[in-house]
Amino acid sequence: MKRNFFYRLAQTLFSQPVIPSEDPPPQIINVQPLQKNRSRMVADHNDPWISVSLLAENTYCPRAGIIQFEENLEDVGEEDMFIGSGQKQTELFYELARLKQTIDQLNKTIRHSWKIFLWLVASIFISLLAANVVAIIANALNASSIGTIVMNLLGFLYLAIFIAIIISISSLTSKYFYRHELKKQYNYAISVHAYIPLFDHSQPIQLSWWNLMNAGFQLVRPIEQYRDPKWHLAGRPWRILVRGDVRIPVFRRRPNRNDKGNRLFKQHFVRMAAYCHLLEKCEHGKSPFGLVLEKGTYSCVTVPYNPSSKKAFHDSLIQARKTICNIGVLFPPPARNWQACIFCPHSRRERYTMASTCGNRFNWIPPNYRDQQSYY
Ligand code: SF4
Repeated sequence: MKRNFFYRLAQTLFSQPVIPSEDPPPQIINVQPLQKNRSRMVADHNDPWISVSLLAENTYCPRAGIIQFEENLEDVGEEDMFIGSGQKQTELFYELARLKQTIDQLNKTIRHSWKIFLWLVASIFISLLAANVVAIIANALNASSIGTIVMNLLGFLYLAIFIAIIISISSLTSKYFYRHELKKQYNYAISVHAYIPLFDHSQPIQLSWWNLMNAGFQLVRPIEQYRDPKWHLAGRPWRILVRGDVRIPVFRRRPNRNDKGNRLFKQHFVRMAAYCHLLEKCEHGKSPFGLVLEKGTYSCVTVPYNPSSKKAFHDSLIQARKTICNIGVLFPPPARNWQACIFCPHSRRERYTMASTCGNRFNWIPPNYRDQQSYY
């Protein structure tokens, strides 16, 4: 206590008065740490949202990417049918339970149609009998005019029944044909063994749709777009195969032409990697590979979600952002390979005006399948 008293007294007597400085006190600035590790994939606030279909189209050809962006269509996870193809096919079923249910329903309809057909045949005999009875009564009563009127009416009825029988036969034939097709699908579906490829396979594997379905995957039809707000990426696969925490996105593509078979192209790897990324982000599941299903068949190819497809996806996303940001600044060249134009839906021309989507947008005439009839 004593020491503190003398110390304060000495301070008061001998210390210099404090003159306030005119400089403002130094400010403490909150310095944000430099984001050295900010991923190149994270989109800036002004970067456009890229849909997965835009991403794939831009990988195919930057002009196709721009058209896709300007049409502002949401991704639906499947390609347009091939230009020029018009053959009708029986609808394919992708779930065994639904296929079985449809066959049962069809069997009921066929039984019902048979009943109608037999009633129609019976009614012909009844109408013939009625015609004879009317003729006999009219003769007996000597009322030939009434007999003629009734006979004419019966004639019309007979004609109507006859037409109904022909329609009924044609409807029964088409139902039998449809049931035959569905039974073929069903027999094929149950004949395929269950198989799930290793999750870490590195090369695409050819599969049947039923390999995975028979292995216990459930088919889910996504309604909403999946979104990654950090990367400004949105997309919706055609279907998703779900088993536990595994999510396999499915993309349905048009069949390849010529001798390309089931060959995959860069845009398929990019697209499937983007879907796998979105599913892992939004559903917090594992998405080790995607599935490319050929339209009108059960033939599929896996697309592994591995470092090489991830890199292709990342590079393509950055490239797509650049393409969209530079609309009106740069004029992208057409696809380097003209085969790409020939098989591109944007080169499809109006029959009379010869106008095409790509031609109108970029003021040129893209090569089209009509120039190359030998492909068909
Ligand atoms: S027609 Fe050719 S240039 Fe035009 S979008 Fe298609 S591939 Fe690209």
